[in-house]
Amino acid sequence: SDHALDYPASPHTIDWSEHYPAFSGSGKRPEFADIGCGFGGLLVALSPLFPDILMLGMEIRVQVTQYVQDRIAALRTTSADPVQSTSSTTAAAYQNVSVVRANAMKFLPNFFSKHSLSALFFLFPDPHFKARKHKARIISHTLLAEYAYVLRPGGIIYTITDVHELHEWMKTHLEAFPLFESVTEHELRQQGHGPVLDAVYHSTEEGKKVERNDGEKWLACFRRKEASRT
Ligand code: SAM
Repeated sequence: SDHALDYPASPHTIDWSEHYPAFSGSGKRPEFADIGCGFGGLLVALSPLFPDILMLGMEIRVQVTQYVQDRIAALRTTSADPVQSTSSTTAAAYQNVSVVRANAMKFLPNFFSKHSLSALFFLFPDPHFKARKHKARIISHTLLAEYAYVLRPGGIIYTITDVHELHEWMKTHLEAFPLFESVTEHELRQQGHGPVLDAVYHSTEEGKKVERNDGEKWLACFRRKEASRT
């Protein structure tokens, strides 16, 4: 359970160079967070698309986190071809992705400072069907306040699920929260987020399972609004 975990006291105490040694000294921090990353399919898919953006997966299960750590370590050593990064330097492959074992529902702001993220992913989150379990859902009014805090204005929340009831739940909560506005898939694709959306739909282990079972997928995306002046 949680108390067996060590949490950083604040994002400033985290030495990101341990996660991203190739970026040490760059001052970069994670910009994409994959909440409940599972086996890491999204991180692995997005890594080569955005070699200059640091990405962090958060996963609560010990063995699954370890699996993702090993997967990234293996990719780093076996991917001989450096990726051409947009900043004209070459970055070694998969150096920009890492994972932490953490309960994202409790300690998100310990990892990410205010407005530091440009994207938050909730891909096929656990549905917690029973009403008395709804408080365990990863989207709730309280948690949305934290997501709005760590996301920068303009940042995007991506949600996808094969459970229609959970889709409606996430949408309803996000629509009701004043700091988020709905953004259509079409709009995101027009703004160049198509490759991210394709990874959201197809790259994760859970998403692939849904495809094998001919299940449906429901996507809902939201943009973090500019903070209102008061
Ligand atoms: N996103 C992955 C995918 O699409 O393949 C995994 C989906 S899986 C159904 C949900 C994952 O969220 C599980 O790996 C679970 O351990 C993790 N999880 C559940 N609650 C969590 C929490 N509070 N903090 C971090 N991870 C959590």
